[in-house]
Parts: sequence; structure tokens; C-alpha cells
Amino acid sequence: MPESPVLPLVVAGGGAAGFMAAITAAEAGVAGVEIWEATAEPLSKVRISGGGRCNVTHACWDPTELVSHYPRGQRPLRGPFSRFAAGDAVAWFAERGVELAEESDGRMFPVSNSSASVVAALRAAAQRSGVVLRPQRALQQVIPAADGFHLKARGTSASIRCRRLLLATGGHPSGRRIAAALGHQVVPPVPSLFTLRLEAPWLTALAGLSQVPVDLELQVGSERFRQSDGIVLVTHWGLSGPGLLRLTAFAARALQHHHYKAELRINWCGGLDVEQLRLQLAAARQQLARRQLANGRPECLLPLRRRLWLALLEQAGLDGNRTWAELPRRGEQRLAELLLRTPLTVCGRGPFGEEFVTAGGVDLGEVNLAVMESRLIPGLHLAGELLDVDGVTGGFNFQHCWSSGWIAGSAMADALT
Ligand SMILES: Cc1cc2nc3c(=O)[nH]c(=O)nc-3n(C[C@H](O)[C@H](O)[C@H](O)COP(=O)(O)OP(=O)(O)OC[C@H]3O[C@@H](n4cnc5c(N)ncnc54)[C@H](O)[C@@H]3O)c2cc1C
Repeated sequence: MPESPVLPLVVAGGGAAGFMAAITAAEAGVAGVEIWEATAEPLSKVRISGGGRCNVTHACWDPTELVSHYPRGQRPLRGPFSRFAAGDAVAWFAERGVELAEESDGRMFPVSNSSASVVAALRAAAQRSGVVLRPQRALQQVIPAADGFHLKARGTSASIRCRRLLLATGGHPSGRRIAAALGHQVVPPVPSLFTLRLEAPWLTALAGLSQVPVDLELQVGSERFRQSDGIVLVTHWGLSGPGLLRLTAFAARALQHHHYKAELRINWCGGLDVEQLRLQLAAARQQLARRQLANGRPECLLPLRRRLWLALLEQAGLDGNRTWAELPRRGEQRLAELLLRTPLTVCGRGPFGEEFVTAGGVDLGEVNLAVMESRLIPGLHLAGELLDVDGVTGGFNFQHCWSSGWIAGSAMADALT
């Protein structure tokens, strides 16, 4: 039987990282790059991302600052981001017809406001550069050989040979299994970027309320996690919002270890400390003496939503119809404690936010991040969510895919051409 020709490069996984790598290698001159995609629809996560708008990246131009948004991968990502970061992604997409616009919080979306334009641009760039897309072909087994790899796809007995292989299978277990079978350590995946379920009916009764800026402190076992100046959103199960999602991303592994049981403390007047609040409350006794507690507030408490303010008064056992002059000392102390350290019991994980990613994946210590190549198996590259890297919400997860995909694609092209 004639031997099948040796493909130069197979990319397993037609997601953000896989497309970026395949296009980069093909544009650099590698002919015959193939993307194997297990499903019928490549780039499906890009399509559904950002509520159908695709938060492509974040307007964070300094690689040193960019890494601070990655609970896992922080320090090791400095190198990769110094080569391809958010500004490079913005330029890369602009060159391929997708202009990105920045929102007030730094998130960047296509000006079309539709993920379809990102999907179309990636597909068009792949086609133009000669990348062959093989949908419904799932990589099942990889056998390293002297000159590359023998690959088996699910449901076939024949093996296909390639010189270089990129695993970019995202959070799917099959890619992690293949990496483990090749000898890689896989850090067990746990969910990241989820909301919290709270035992606090008085708070969840305020569902729909958003509050900024708040400081959050989460005690999980003996570990403590903090998040300052965040936005939180009260839901009918507990808390959500970007500030809370960032907190759970950093605490993901500890929370999972403690079965999502923890203690949360909220400072509803972000940045304000005990002494500053004491002075403001003392001043309010004088300046707002005749005003009812429910209807008058010192300046530092004005950002508090009225519904929340009334609920906090009630929690402190204070009658909102009483005046500031009538505020008992003990009541003032209880109010101050609640404003700065509302204690809440976390009783579980709530639903996910708009993004869903897994923390965990192939151990970064076993990957040469300068070329995204396995330190154990020469010629094997890895990129995207398959690696033990995850970012907070805001476009950081795709940014890691663009960066690692571009670096892998460039390195594979260098090796092959
Ligand atoms: C609802 C949702 C919204 C999101 N929104 C955003 C956002 O707006 N901004 C952001 O930064 N991040 C967002 N994310 C996270 C982001 O989508 C991921 O970080 C990113 O898609 C990971 O890209 P990837 O290429 O590594 O993996 P994936 O996108 O998961 O692609 C991997 C591909 O490999 C295929 N595959 C798996 N196993 C095999 C195999 N054995 N053989 C062949 N193919 C295989 C899969 O079918 C898949 O198509 C969102 C995630 C979700 C779920």
C-alpha cells in the first residue's frame, strides 16, 4: 500500500488559537497546513463569545500590566506577551478587515458589534493562505516518530503523518488526554469565572442592583483573596458582576477545594477606611441632624444605591424614620461595620458569567513558551486554553489564544521553512 504523504503541519482544534497558529504558519510560507476540527463547526466559541459580540481583546497595552489579569500563567506569560500582545492583536485583525473599538471599561469588540465578522475574517484569512480545514475530524491518538508524528483520527484506522503538530483543543478533555498520553502533566481542570451563591435573603431581595466601587475580601479556608474597586451585581442567587468574577477567577482552585464554601466581606464604600467613615458619620450627626436616616446621607455614602442603603439600615437594626441626631452610638457602630465589612456566607457556586473558561491544563513548566513547544516531545506545540492559563473576564482569554497561537505558528514556520 502506498504511504500517505507527510503533511508539514497539522493543527488539532479549529478554535481561536488553532486558527491563529495555522494562518500565521501558512502566511509565513508553510504549504499544506491542515486544521482538524472535531465538530462540524469550527470557531464555535468565537461565534457565541461576548454574548454574540466577541470581546476580542482588552485595551491593555503594557505586557507587564496585561499579565496581572491572568490568575494562572501570570509570570510565565511575560515573555509571550512581550512578543505578541493586545496591540498586536488589534493590528492583526485590522489588517484582515476587522476594526476593533474600545468600550469605557477597556473591553474591545469588533465595530460591527458581531462575532460573525471575527469568524468570517479568520476563515477568509485561513482560506487565502491555503490552510485546509477538515471538519468532523477528531484527533484521537498521536505516536511520535523520528521524523514527526503518526496521527489517528477518530473512526479511522489509517494513520496520517505530519512533521509538526499543534494541540489547540481548548478545554475539551480529548486534547488533555492526548497530552497526558504523551507524558505531559495536566493540572486538573476546575471552573473559573463563576458567580457566588450566598445565604443572604435580605441581599438577594435586591436582585438587579449594581454597586460600584466595592472592595471584596474572600476567606476560603486559610487563604484570603481581595478585589478592590469592582462592580458587583446583586442577583436572585447571590452576587455577580466583573469585580466578583475577577475574585472567583483568582480563588477558583481554593473554592473548588473547599466545595465552594467561604466567607465574603464587602466594603460597600470601596476605598473608604474605618477612620474616614467615622469622621463622615460624626459630621453627618451635625450637618444632617434633622434629616431622617433614610433620606439624608453624608457625601461618602451618596454612591450607595438607595435600596441598598435602606437594606443596610434595616440590617443594622436602625429605623430609617429616625433623624441623624437620634442615631444611637451602638447603632452607628453596627452601621459602620456593615458598610465596611458586611459578612456574607458563600454556600455554593452560582451560574457562570458571559464567559466560561477552565483553570488548569498542560503544566506550563513543560512548555517552552518562546516557541510554544513541548519540552518533552520535540515538534509538538501547544496553545490556547489547553494550557494551564486562564484570564479574568474582559477579552483576556482570547488574547492569550491570539498570542500563543501566533507564537506557535511563527515557530513552526521557522522550523519548517
Ligand atoms: C459562552 C462563552 C463566551 C466567551 N466569551 C469570551 C469573550 O468574549 N472574550 C474572551 O476573551 N473569552 C471568551 N470566552 C473564552 C474563550 O472562548 C476561550 O478562552 C477560547 O475560545 C479558547 O480558545 P481555544 O482555541 O484554546 O479553544 P476552543 O475555542 O475551545 O477551540 C478548540 C477546538 O478544538 C476542537 N477539538 C477539541 N478536541 C479535539 C480533537 N481531539 N480533535 C480535533 N478538534 C478538537 C473543539 O471542537 C474546538 O472547536 C468565552 C467562552 C464561552 C464559553
